Amino acid sequence: MKTYNVRTICRLCNSNKIKLLLDFGLMPLAGGFIHTEDIPFEKKFPLRLFFCEKCALVQVVDIIPQEILFRDYRYTSSTTKTLSEHFRDYAKDIQDKFLDKNSFVVEIGSNDGVLLSPLKELNVNALGVEPASNIVSIATSKGLKVLNDFFNVKTAREVVNQYGLADAILANNVLAHIDDMNGIIEGIKILLNKDGVLIFEVQYFLDLVKDLQYDFIYHEHMSYYTIKPLIKFFEKHGMKIFDVKDVSIHGGSIRVYVTSESNKKYKILDSVKIHLQKEEDMGLHTFSGLSNFSQKVKIHRDKLVKILNKFKSEGKKICGYGASGRSVTLTNYCNIGQETLEYIIDSSPERYGRVMPGTHVKIMSPEYLKLNKADVMLILAWTYLEEILKKEQWFWEDGREGVVPFPNVAIITKEDICLNQLA
Ligand code: SAM
Repeated sequence: MKTYNVRTICRLCNSNKIKLLLDFGLMPLAGGFIHTEDIPFEKKFPLRLFFCEKCALVQVVDIIPQEILFRDYRYTSSTTKTLSEHFRDYAKDIQDKFLDKNSFVVEIGSNDGVLLSPLKELNVNALGVEPASNIVSIATSKGLKVLNDFFNVKTAREVVNQYGLADAILANNVLAHIDDMNGIIEGIKILLNKDGVLIFEVQYFLDLVKDLQYDFIYHEHMSYYTIKPLIKFFEKHGMKIFDVKDVSIHGGSIRVYVTSESNKKYKILDSVKIHLQKEEDMGLHTFSGLSNFSQKVKIHRDKLVKILNKFKSEGKKICGYGASGRSVTLTNYCNIGQETLEYIIDSSPERYGRVMPGTHVKIMSPEYLKLNKADVMLILAWTYLEEILKKEQWFWEDGREGVVPFPNVAIITKEDICLNQLA
């Protein structure tokens, strides 16, 4: 299997007018949590972000084949309480607004069943389509229905043959992970009932730029969506975006509602225009509007490294918290390795005993933190800051400190954390 391809035209509009926005150099795969004995075989790939001057899509052009990225996948959504609660509310919301007792729902990228489970509890007839075999077995052990494959035209036809058309297709945090977006939409059109809705969530590029969240950029995340290129893309496929809602997860996301152009049941709401205007005001639709992004990223890196070096020079032991894809980008790009971090704590059993891609810092369970106390915690999983502070309340006693890398590098102490409010 060829290890990677370089895209020369835009993923959504096929234009060749794409321009380099940010170059990370060679990076390991964000999901490549390896065992120590596999370190000599670890590979690195270029990671470059481009801007399409025709449709304004921001995208990674160095494409790792999906079979490598997703057949064995080390990310389980249900591990974080924040996501489980989010998808519980999501299930109820879509049931109230879009489903009746006979509806059939298909979820693309259903992972360990974080959304299929609450849908099942609500008696919704739902099927997941998920390529990661190791994760599908977690979902099926919970009694959930999942087709273990990539979603595409072929699997869409298989689902129609076996179950019939879907009244709703859900796709959360997965449309950024797919290179062949035209193929995905063809599959969605085959599977979706003519009055059906496609509802998806993606991290919002507007929030990424606003808070300089460059740690979200990695090979797995191929597209960084704003509404503008999506409107044109769906129009090309005879579909319309009729509503957009802001969602707080993953450092700022949007939930987007789409249906066929001819569906009169759903009128295009003002939320679409409002999001477009906000993007325009932030300069996200032109290359010049984003011209200082790369410079700001470098300044942020230098600031974070300086703070960590200061702690080190004072003889303090530093640990990381959260071995996520985000932390792979941050630690590799900022060169935060074993000389800085003693270990990284993660709550996902899928990752204990492995090492961080690129830097090879060891990944340990939350119990390890209590037995091997560090003086400073670098909160790599900063989008779950509140959940981490609550879970590890004891850490902040005895004058220990934390470093939160985003949106601005900040040092936190017990005094900054209102532990009573968290309790
Ligand atoms: N939907 C869950 C959530 O929002 O937490 C999981 C998101 S996870 C970041 C992306 C998931 O999409 C992974 O489980 C991955 O295996 C799956 N995936 C990637 N490409 C896919 C494809 N072509 N079809 C279906 N699922 C895919």
